[in-house]
Amino acid sequence: MRKRIVAGNWKMNKTAEEALSLVSEIDNMVKDEVNGDVAVVVAPPFPFLQSLGKLTQGNDKMHLAAQNVSEHESGAYTGEVSAAMLKSVGVEYVIIGHSERRMYHHEDAQTLYQKMKTTLAHGMKPIFCCGEPLEERDADRHFDYVGKQLHDSLSYLSNEEFEQVVIAYEPIWAIGTGRTASSQQAQEMHEYIREQIARMFDAEAAYNTSILYGGSCNPANAQELFSQSDVDGGLIGGASLKSRDFTDVIKSI
Ligand code: PEP
Repeated sequence: MRKRIVAGNWKMNKTAEEALSLVSEIDNMVKDEVNGDVAVVVAPPFPFLQSLGKLTQGNDKMHLAAQNVSEHESGAYTGEVSAAMLKSVGVEYVIIGHSERRMYHHEDAQTLYQKMKTTLAHGMKPIFCCGEPLEERDADRHFDYVGKQLHDSLSYLSNEEFEQVVIAYEPIWAIGTGRTASSQQAQEMHEYIREQIARMFDAEAAYNTSILYGGSCNPANAQELFSQSDVDGGLIGGASLKSRDFTDVIKSI
């Protein structure tokens, strides 16, 4: 059975001290309040991964993610962070293809494929993000747009590699805007994504893949979104920066 996952993407927020308090608070709340079978993933900025990894290690519900990884193994790539480095500090998941990286850092499908390969080769799980801009939805091309994103970066993986992949559907018009997708819009896209996985890999892979929803998900709308049969959890931005809100989202699963 596929895993239920709630992942918090902190983006470029928090200082070292604030990061430590936030993860300590989440850790305590998860221990005290979360009983269900859910993987809680936190994705802080790179400088905090090592110290926060020591905290999350003591709680088997909590897991550490990076927000990005270099597509290169090692060498003269100033400012980049490799998969081997992430693995060596306890990172288990890597967010790949977030719309902000596609947009601001011009990450294309081929680069994302290389990032998937290096993440998998180092034994970590990619959280592959996809999602359409508003003009594609308005033109009723959102299924084709997301289908192409999946095909272009994932279809060359082997079935064995794909077993480790988590997908996050994040419509760009819903990220950080306060405008969330309706539960029906989320469900129909997740169902479509599962169909695409079955076409690229097989029915078992489609059934077993966790597909998360992201985009202005918060304690007020999480339960409705997570109750959809093809929504297996969430990738949470703004609401993951406050321990109470993030824990309430986790408890909605
Ligand atoms: C995100 O950027 O991954 C995200 C889902 O952000 P927000 O929840 O703030 O819309």
